[in-house]
Amino acid sequence: MRKYGVIFFDWDGTAVTSRSAPADEIIGAMAPLLEKGVKLAVISGTSYRNIAGGKLAESFPPPSRANLYFGLGRGANNRGYGGDGKIIAIDGILPDKKTLSALHRTCFQLHEHLLEQYGYNTDVIFNRENYCKIDLEPDIDRGERLYFNGGERELVDRRLTRHGFSAGIRGLFELAISFGEQNDVTVKPTTDAKFLEVGLGTKSDNVNAIMRHLEKNCGVTAAECCFWGDEYLEISQGVFGSDALMITEKTANCDFFDVSDVRGKRPPGVKRLGNGVNRFLSFLREQAETA
Ligand SMILES: [Mg+2]
Repeated sequence: MRKYGVIFFDWDGTAVTSRSAPADEIIGAMAPLLEKGVKLAVISGTSYRNIAGGKLAESFPPPSRANLYFGLGRGANNRGYGGDGKIIAIDGILPDKKTLSALHRTCFQLHEHLLEQYGYNTDVIFNRENYCKIDLEPDIDRGERLYFNGGERELVDRRLTRHGFSAGIRGLFELAISFGEQNDVTVKPTTDAKFLEVGLGTKSDNVNAIMRHLEKNCGVTAAECCFWGDEYLEISQGVFGSDALMITEKTANCDFFDVSDVRGKRPPGVKRLGNGVNRFLSFLREQAETA
């Protein structure tokens, strides 16, 4: 594989198998690259404290840390680090109280609509900074595993159909958008099948903000960048997983790799490599050898 100057990657399911799994291997694979000046950007829907126990950046000395970036919380929080090891905030999408409550209202209306019209119950998690998580399968506990599993797609589709909702996940997106319009808020839904996430931003906003920062401050070009994830797969007609949202107008010509073994349709240009976290770790180790 060719050598890249900037590697953007998803965390859960790409860099680590679960949040409680030790992060030693990924830290060990990242360290020589950061030391050699390769830029690494973690792009994850979660918050900083869920990434290597909130200690990932602190695992690297300040000069290496200056090559590390985070794009978190569906566009909410982006950061880099200065040569002194201190955080440099990069623009993120954080709503004011009014917009956040309009988003909450939108998600509750969707929940209420499904319950009243179809007897379909969901669970809504409200405590995120700029999105809500709507659990479409509240009776199924994923346990430690936070990432997409092939069977969940069919499960959700079957459950929706059984309740008389025939428009599938695509239909849920449309409902979320239309309830959002009623509340004067533009929402961007995504899904990993079990959870429908309705928020103000997506991974697109994270990668665009970090790309802009890198172009401006480090002279980085799209040609040096690659992107790694495990959720590019089409979940419902025309609806792709959250990692597919790393493909934006700005990044469209970059290289995209998928470590998921699940068969199915992916956005054009995404290369399925499979073999999960191990594939990504071996890529980082190869890159360190040639860096
Ligand atoms: Mg993932």
